[in-house]
Amino acid sequence: MTAIAKSGAFVDVALPLALPTSLTYAVPEGLAGALVPGGRVVVPVLRREAVGIVTAVDRPAPERPARDVIAAPDAAPVLGPDLVELAAWVGRRYAAPPGLVLRAMLPAALFSVGRPVVVVQPGALEGAGAAALRRSRGPAAQALLRLLAKPGRAIPLAAVRRAGGGAGLRLVQRLAAEGLAQLVTQPPRTAPPERGERMFELAARYDHLLELDRRFARSPKQREAYETLAALGGRAGAAVLERRGISRSALAALVERGDARSIVEPRVRDPFAQLAPALPPSEPTEAQRSAVAALEALAPGGAALLFGVTGSGKTLVYLEFLRGVVTSGRGAIVLVPEIALTPQTVSRLKGVFGDDVAVLHSGLSDGERWDAWRALREGRRRVAIGARSALFAPVPRLGAIVLDEEHDASYKQGEAPRYHARDVALRRAALAGAAVVLGTATPSLESWAAAKSGALRLVELPERVGARGLPPVQVVDLRSAPRVAGSLAVPWSEALDAALRGALERGEQAMVLLNRRGFSRFVQCPSCGRVWDCPNCSIALTYHRAPAALRCHHCAHRESPPAACPDCGAAVHQYRGAGTQQVEDFLAQRFPAARIARMDLDSTGARWAHQRILERVEAGTVDVLVGTQMIAKGLDFPRVTVVGVVDADVALNLPDFRAAERTFDLLTQVAGRAGRGPLGGRVIVQTWAPGHHAIVHAAGHDVRGFLEAELDERRSPPYPPHVRLANVLLSGRDERAVARAAERVAEWLRALVAARPELGATVLGPAPCPVERARDRWRWHLLVKTPDDAALTRLAGYLASRAPVPAGARMVVDRDPASVL
Ligand code: ADP
Ligand code: ZN
Repeated sequence: MTAIAKSGAFVDVALPLALPTSLTYAVPEGLAGALVPGGRVVVPVLRREAVGIVTAVDRPAPERPARDVIAAPDAAPVLGPDLVELAAWVGRRYAAPPGLVLRAMLPAALFSVGRPVVVVQPGALEGAGAAALRRSRGPAAQALLRLLAKPGRAIPLAAVRRAGGGAGLRLVQRLAAEGLAQLVTQPPRTAPPERGERMFELAARYDHLLELDRRFARSPKQREAYETLAALGGRAGAAVLERRGISRSALAALVERGDARSIVEPRVRDPFAQLAPALPPSEPTEAQRSAVAALEALAPGGAALLFGVTGSGKTLVYLEFLRGVVTSGRGAIVLVPEIALTPQTVSRLKGVFGDDVAVLHSGLSDGERWDAWRALREGRRRVAIGARSALFAPVPRLGAIVLDEEHDASYKQGEAPRYHARDVALRRAALAGAAVVLGTATPSLESWAAAKSGALRLVELPERVGARGLPPVQVVDLRSAPRVAGSLAVPWSEALDAALRGALERGEQAMVLLNRRGFSRFVQCPSCGRVWDCPNCSIALTYHRAPAALRCHHCAHRESPPAACPDCGAAVHQYRGAGTQQVEDFLAQRFPAARIARMDLDSTGARWAHQRILERVEAGTVDVLVGTQMIAKGLDFPRVTVVGVVDADVALNLPDFRAAERTFDLLTQVAGRAGRGPLGGRVIVQTWAPGHHAIVHAAGHDVRGFLEAELDERRSPPYPPHVRLANVLLSGRDERAVARAAERVAEWLRALVAARPELGATVLGPAPCPVERARDRWRWHLLVKTPDDAALTRLAGYLASRAPVPAGARMVVDRDPASVL
């Protein structure tokens, strides 16, 4: 069935670059019969070689002469026919360059030219193929003969080309066609195992700036080392610290004076490889059993929304369902929002499937990833688990795809191809005849609407396992509630204070969420009101302590905190709005005996830092886990009895149509971390907007109520799921040029939409984006809406290929955007 390229034919090859189309190459005689769609080829690009993927064979001759394919290194294509088709679909739907789609689907190692080499058989040069070469007296021929006369050795093709040019390559291809040589792309080496790693750990805490000033009065370098270590969560590897500019001598001095300890960790091992399998609870409950039965009843290509409250035991439902799939000889893919945050799900999966599981996590080296990929492809492992991109794992005979926490924004890729894993999963499953399970306690509006229309089968787990109720949620109105004095910029009510104190006194654990990292949200001059903004972005700089710096959360900009206001000369500055660092400091002062850990982007930069923090919580050596949304995801710690939300409104007022949904999801998910064990639990939510529907429904655990209210909110003006949406973003360095470009594209688009009423599309804007400037580029956007999914695909394609984008501006078409900021 598969088309095979014939000699004298041409093939299209996608290179892993942002080229709008595939490139056409000629098939040399030696490779006739070896090229199929989805197969890798080595081709010349300018003066280099690159690895590409054949996207089509039997192409017509191009207008300009085509260069020859150099080699086809694999016996079998790296993408099977269904993945080739899926790649084409993703490219069309998201108007993405074909090469970038393939790069997102395949392990990077497959594209590393990894040096294509040729291995010549003994005696190969004595055959007819090399006769002309043997006769030739030219220096090139002689050099080539010398080079190739090393049977069994890997000879780089680049050397062949240097010695013998195009004729040399053709000779090698001919030898390969006659079976006298093999062309291979050498696999990249897997990373060597890492040995012991030196770690530093804080041994003393200085929570007041004054104390720090005193302690490090004459040693700024040590202070920086201390503060960096504190910022990394109190513990970090020497290599990480060195990358941040901390010298060995400063660290040694810290150890010397007793402020830090130095330890050698036996070895940094892949925690996912070492993860102990967790035995599943032996018996599913009645509710779980009937959910599994409903999933098993799905037709091939069918899909279900598994809507189960937090703690309802969705994981066991996935496992039981997947057990049936794997027993029947098929494979499965399990997607989780961020694999680093879900060690528990991984160990439960391993508990059931053992060595059949391949864990695709971001800590893998290119070589390790490639190993995992091959193990899946060859059927040595049949269950893949990973974040978004694991969706493309080469699982043969795919029987099921599970998306856990299907509402999570990380399922949408932020760069080309800007795909949404949920939609691509449905497509892949349809092509493979597999079933899809979308699991969540807080369905996305899109999935909820699909369940209501019958496109997704609704399967529910309305109660927690073991008759445990959902934890009561107390909403604290920050406008009026009594606050604890001296809590700096951290709004800290007496209610939350008492709840946390109670948990600590009883020896239980607590989580405190504030979805904003850093120490203070912004810095303001008290006399003239000046706020320090990023010079590259239209957002305020966040103040980070330890080490002290103003940092932009959008770009990499950082500067030292100001000493005086450049506008009015005033010397004092106000640090306003608390972030997680400040919460951590405040709690350390208020509860000196509590063991506090912080989990946010800043404290988890080091490799495996997430695991280390979660392991400590699991082992009970952390009493309070402070963090951003990271702590809200899927964690199951039965001893957590109190969850506090410092400020529920962080994302509520963003000018984005998903602001309420994100807020509701976050509150419901983090509340769901409380009371998962026999100790019970409670949740305290602090807010300035206690009447907002996202907060009211979250407090009442009323997910359906929220979904219905939010569906109504999005009816007029219409937003997804009532329409399909594309965000067309124009950016550039010159503000006026960007505005003009946006107007030009909008005008063109309006004319197109008017001429094609069947697309049912409307165009809004252009207007400056809510974040007007980012990374030194001005940003304008327009929104395209249509109720017709296929129409939006066509429009995205027209835009990407034909829109008149003037030089100096760049356009991005973001279809089904996760946000429009
Ligand atoms: P969810 O993902 O729906 O929030 P989990 O799958 O994490 O919930 O399950 C919540 C807790 O209930 C876990 O600690 C799990 O071990 C436990 N659990 C799940 N199913 C059962 C069962 N059938 N019997 C006993 N305990 C169970
Ligand atoms: Zn910036």
